[in-house]
Amino acid sequence: MPRYKILTWGCQMNEEDSEQMSLYLQERGYEPAERVEDADVVLLNTCSVRRKPEDKVFSTLGQLRTLKQRKPQMVIGVCGCMAQLRADEIRQKAPFVDMIVGTAHIAQVGALLEETLQKRRLAMRLDLPERKGAIVTDIPQRKVDRAPKLKAFVPIQYGCDKFCTFCIVPLTRGRERSRPTADIVEEVRRLAERGTKEITLLGQTVNSYGKNLLEGRVPFARLLQLLSDIDGIERIRFTSPYPRDFRDDLIRAIAELPKVMEHVHLPLQSGDNEVLKAMRRLYTVEQFEEVAAKLRAHVPGIAITTDIIVGFPGETDEQFENTLRVVERVRFDGAYMFAYSPRPGTPAAQMENQIPRAVKQERLQRLIALQNQITCEINSAQVGQVFEVLVEGPSQKDPTKLAGFTRENKMMHFVGSPELVGRLVRVRADEAHLWGFYGTVVA
Ligand code: SF4
Repeated sequence: MPRYKILTWGCQMNEEDSEQMSLYLQERGYEPAERVEDADVVLLNTCSVRRKPEDKVFSTLGQLRTLKQRKPQMVIGVCGCMAQLRADEIRQKAPFVDMIVGTAHIAQVGALLEETLQKRRLAMRLDLPERKGAIVTDIPQRKVDRAPKLKAFVPIQYGCDKFCTFCIVPLTRGRERSRPTADIVEEVRRLAERGTKEITLLGQTVNSYGKNLLEGRVPFARLLQLLSDIDGIERIRFTSPYPRDFRDDLIRAIAELPKVMEHVHLPLQSGDNEVLKAMRRLYTVEQFEEVAAKLRAHVPGIAITTDIIVGFPGETDEQFENTLRVVERVRFDGAYMFAYSPRPGTPAAQMENQIPRAVKQERLQRLIALQNQITCEINSAQVGQVFEVLVEGPSQKDPTKLAGFTRENKMMHFVGSPELVGRLVRVRADEAHLWGFYGTVVA
């Protein structure tokens, strides 16, 4: 049987796309290979959000060039955001690439593979759906029958209409479009039948789901209610919401629907209103803090995590200090923190007053130190508390222990019998760390 290997960079949406491509290849008789060297087809599913993963893809292509010289029949494909954005450069730097698959053509990966095998020439699909009138209806095809798994990602929305000035996503994934509600409910129902207990709903601005559906608006909070009604599903998460669109009905849904987890990842990006404006983020620091305060008031124990970019063009020392102050006030449970990375094609990359690399790095280190201290303080204060944990399997840190996540999305490691895998158990936190807890199962 021919074999394939998919290498994935980037976000959960990319992981999900890679799973879809696997299903489409398996449908055509391919089976997964352990190593790139053993594969007949190698696909690189790429990310353009920062420069580093892009560089990594080009260096991987350099290694694949040597492999392809030894195995000329091997098919090499580049998929995802970099394929969408940098196809010409990929063709020029890596002319041995056989397939270039844009973000809207993941479902055609099997057909493109046949095309390149039969015609022995580059197979490429890159067009993105255009907005025709008010609603973009072009939703990628999906395979909804997947192998049984405890936790599954479920995309509910594709693309983004926000056009933040630093972000490449609207150019790589196109305009915002929501999947029909009935399709999502059906997919989750089938996942539940095959044993999935936890789903994570994916979208670039997941809480604006439903505003552009042909059948009429379905608020995100309503979708959470519909999915909560599905037997077998025990936990529902979502990522990432957009702060401005975080409405009261969504806060109520988190508070009132027991299956919706007490964790929200709410991207702040900057703690300074001028910088937020330059980023074209459509909220102020005050509005962001109001959402965080309401979440804490209505959902006791909720964990709030965030994304922050430091060193956005023109960010002054004082503006950076404002970000630190917000971090101190909101006290996030955790954060993904980055130095600004200019993305060609975005407005911010053209801005004058780019911040020197050394300054960005120094700010990033200060922010990380502050956030790590806060995370450790919050986790330490929770020692002794009992958490509900969905047991996923042996811990990767220590295979003699089991591991899983709390409702608040914190990692827990503990001693327990293998029969607990797949079950919800109550675990007392005994020892706090930056990454989560060591704990003990309680009756
Ligand atoms: S909301 Fe902004 S940062 Fe998020 S995907 Fe859309 S454009 Fe990018």
